[in-house]
Amino acid sequence: MYRSHNCGELRITDTTKEVTLSGWVQIGRDLGGLTFVDLRDRYGITQVVFNLEENENLCLAARKLGREFVIRVVGIVKERSNKNPNRPTGDIEVEALSLEVLNASKVPPFTIEEETDGGEDIRMNYRYLDIRRPNVRENLIFRSNLAVSTRAYLANQGFIEVETPVLIKSTPEGARDFVVPSRMNAGQFYALPQSPQTFKQILMIAGMDKYFQIVKCFRDEDLRADRQPEFTQIDCEMSFVTRDEVLDTFEGLTKHLFKQMLDVTLHDFPKMSYDEAMERYGSDKPDIRFGMEFVDLTKKAKGHGFPVFDNSEFVVGICAKGIAESYSNKDVKKLTEWMQRPQIGAKGLVYIKYLPGGQVKSSVGKFYSDEVLLSWKDDFDAEEGDIVFILCGEKEKTQKQTNELRLEMGRRLELMDPAEFKPLWVVDFPLLEWDEDSNRFHAMHHPFTAPKKEDEERMLLGDHETMKNLRADAYDLVINGVEIGGGSIRIHDRDLQSRNFDLLGFTKEEAEDQFGFLLGAFEYGAPPHGGIAFGFDRLCAVLNGQNSIRDFIAFPKNNQGRDMMIDSPSYIDDEQMKELSLKTTIEK
Ligand code: ASP
Repeated sequence: MYRSHNCGELRITDTTKEVTLSGWVQIGRDLGGLTFVDLRDRYGITQVVFNLEENENLCLAARKLGREFVIRVVGIVKERSNKNPNRPTGDIEVEALSLEVLNASKVPPFTIEEETDGGEDIRMNYRYLDIRRPNVRENLIFRSNLAVSTRAYLANQGFIEVETPVLIKSTPEGARDFVVPSRMNAGQFYALPQSPQTFKQILMIAGMDKYFQIVKCFRDEDLRADRQPEFTQIDCEMSFVTRDEVLDTFEGLTKHLFKQMLDVTLHDFPKMSYDEAMERYGSDKPDIRFGMEFVDLTKKAKGHGFPVFDNSEFVVGICAKGIAESYSNKDVKKLTEWMQRPQIGAKGLVYIKYLPGGQVKSSVGKFYSDEVLLSWKDDFDAEEGDIVFILCGEKEKTQKQTNELRLEMGRRLELMDPAEFKPLWVVDFPLLEWDEDSNRFHAMHHPFTAPKKEDEERMLLGDHETMKNLRADAYDLVINGVEIGGGSIRIHDRDLQSRNFDLLGFTKEEAEDQFGFLLGAFEYGAPPHGGIAFGFDRLCAVLNGQNSIRDFIAFPKNNQGRDMMIDSPSYIDDEQMKELSLKTTIEK
């Protein structure tokens, strides 16, 4: 027998029992006639003690153990004289009667503790050692529990889990596909799914009514800091539902998960239109844990002889509370430089300080009288001691820049409480986005998203210009400024779907070639349907108040899309290439 108990289990009530434990040597310490070994497994750490006087050979053997040796110990549970309140097993220790080395270990390349000296690369190379660290291990356990809770909740709501294929067909819409050559069909390729979107819609046409799947999706995008080429979604679809029924169902799931995992009760989620989110926060995923909302100054700021504002499409400000006096000219200068970095690209930053005693100080004081500047105070709900920052320029760009400024000020002033969760639904997204470069429309969500009912006719009959402001029945769930997921009511009518492909620049042949199966299925009784997908990795991170999804993935890829441990991607040999009818011009 390897073990009677695990290493996190023994308590004071177990004293005098003879137990067998197996695990890894976290650390050994010799103190005079005693040798202590911290024995670790997934469940915790138990102190084992070897007594030189009572059993010399055993104690000498223990002194030879290295870090991460795998051992089995038989011993007696004793109350500790020197208790460790930070450990669930801290009241006891196991006095060893025998010791067996099950496997030796090389000295690990980094310390296997919560605080490690190992950098990212080395930890990824030796991910099996990294996962032995308690924080990484706990993240994976959390993820497992979240998946179990999700399945239980959705199953209870009548959803069934259906697996959709991983080898599918490449389509140019959306991100880039990963492709897989087919040996049996020379020159042809499968694609890995960016999401099971069309399959879940087909399942609705097939009458499955409520579908879900915790599913891997693949997108060959240039990797930004927190993107993974393969990631996991909670993917869902429902038939005969309105938008609000979909939202209610997934608000229910979200509330359930927060309660189960964190014991946090979430209030009902507000809904905000895309337009409103952009006007108030300059972002379609606003962090509403704090205010600092945008105030549109375009009208008021123009016509006072300040050419920069006069020549701008949009002038907007935000108010940072209570820092007018403490924020020096140098601070403002530094902030301006921060805003001018290429990542943000602001041209400049105007400030107004509302100081005690009704004084005003501003970088545009030359152009605006104190009286004028004071008259803006109410627009910002500003008080004495507050500072207002103003940006201007082309509307969309300025909104984005001001959003960055708002978030940065929120961080600096510590207005985002990590223990607080503020979800909201952002709804009524634009259906189409005009892309100047390619001179065509893109689907803002995806090509299967339905326009809002009231825009349907305009979409079918309208001219090009009116297409720019069609609204989609699409929605995102946002928590603390992070997009958790999104979805839409779908088109279920062949003509409307064809019209959408048409607007998106597909020829009839292309649409038929790529999506003929779906268009065909629409002709056999497609029910009205809609759905949503949550980013599962991201949900894990947000629930833990963390930014990086990588910490919640057992074997993540690095910024170059590489798996460091197995060293992939890699070349394949010529024979394999030939079999797959592939040629390469790359020198290996
Ligand atoms: N398939 C969509 C996505 O991956 C989600 C949805 O519309 O249900 O973003």
